[in-house]
Amino acid sequence: MTDIGKYTKELKKLIAGANDILLICHINPDGDAAGAMLALRRWIISRGKNAEMISPNSLQKFLMWMRDADKIVDFHHNIETGSALIRKADLIIMVDFNSPSRLGKAEELVLSSKAVKVMIDHHPDPGDIADLVISDTGMSSTSELIYSLVNEMEEGEFSDPDFIEAVYVGIITDTGNFEHGLYNGDTMRTVGHLLDEGVDKEKILNRIFSNFSSDRMRLKGFALHSRTIVHPELHTAYIWLTKEDLEAFRHVKGDTEGFANLLLAINGIVLSVLFVERSGFVKMSLRSKGSFNANVLSRKCFNGGGHRNAAGGEMKGTIQDILNHFENVLPSFKPELDAASLDMEK
Ligand code: 5GP
Ligand code: MN
Repeated sequence: MTDIGKYTKELKKLIAGANDILLICHINPDGDAAGAMLALRRWIISRGKNAEMISPNSLQKFLMWMRDADKIVDFHHNIETGSALIRKADLIIMVDFNSPSRLGKAEELVLSSKAVKVMIDHHPDPGDIADLVISDTGMSSTSELIYSLVNEMEEGEFSDPDFIEAVYVGIITDTGNFEHGLYNGDTMRTVGHLLDEGVDKEKILNRIFSNFSSDRMRLKGFALHSRTIVHPELHTAYIWLTKEDLEAFRHVKGDTEGFANLLLAINGIVLSVLFVERSGFVKMSLRSKGSFNANVLSRKCFNGGGHRNAAGGEMKGTIQDILNHFENVLPSFKPELDAASLDMEK
């Protein structure tokens, strides 16, 4: 980000002047949303202030070990408490999203709040939803961005162990432990600092990526064996899971995490999609390789959004309706899919 100092000066002033700070992340919070929020809160606390935290719905269980994760108010299940916090706030800092629809049921209250609003995010095409928009699409994660902002505001290294840990969780979540997503030398230099500070990378890796039930492993096997469709001519493969499938494998929240990436391991595939049926709607997760823009497809096809290589959306309807819609739209992306696949062969 050019001129980070301009943003941090303003942010520091807003935080110093606020009485009731509220941090809020996107619905279905992942390790980056939670990590960014918890990391920023650690710094705010170190400045002698407090900050409340809200997530539009609950965190996945495997993130609950993080320091102060239990202090995040799950808005969906605590509407009264959450609404009171939003109404009371005079500074609302939104992290890891750039469109108000990602606030779920909290959207209306946040939008109508008179609080000063700040958005800190790394998704492309930031919406004009805040008084101060701090957006850097070159960052691996919002947590990496928070790391830079905090160290700039601190005017040195902020080495609180819980801050370091939360930032690390965010970075490895959004890069799949450096397997995909957007990361570069700067990310690795940040990671280098985190390791120098003694972050327990093995513990975190185990808690984030090796913490599943045997039912989840069987669901993964079933998805790959019985619910995988491959269209080699369109360089696309997808997994579809019905509500009944999830029930049969005693699905809990977070069990399908990572499935969206699986099919990118197939030779020639540049687009992988996971469709999961819920009550009355379908959640889709898109992952792509190289130049194929999953964000554009998600916006056009599913009214969703995200990054070039990782996007998502939600649509009302049965899984069959949504799959038919996808199958109808997909061929119109053939030129872009072909181009991305050709690039891969170079
Ligand atoms: P995931 O597939 O892991 O849920 O999300 C991948 C990326 O797509 C994330 O960066 C996330 O912010 C974005 N994303 C996921 N679901 C939605 C959605 O329903 N709407 C929008 N606009 N973006 C989404
Ligand atoms: Mn993120």
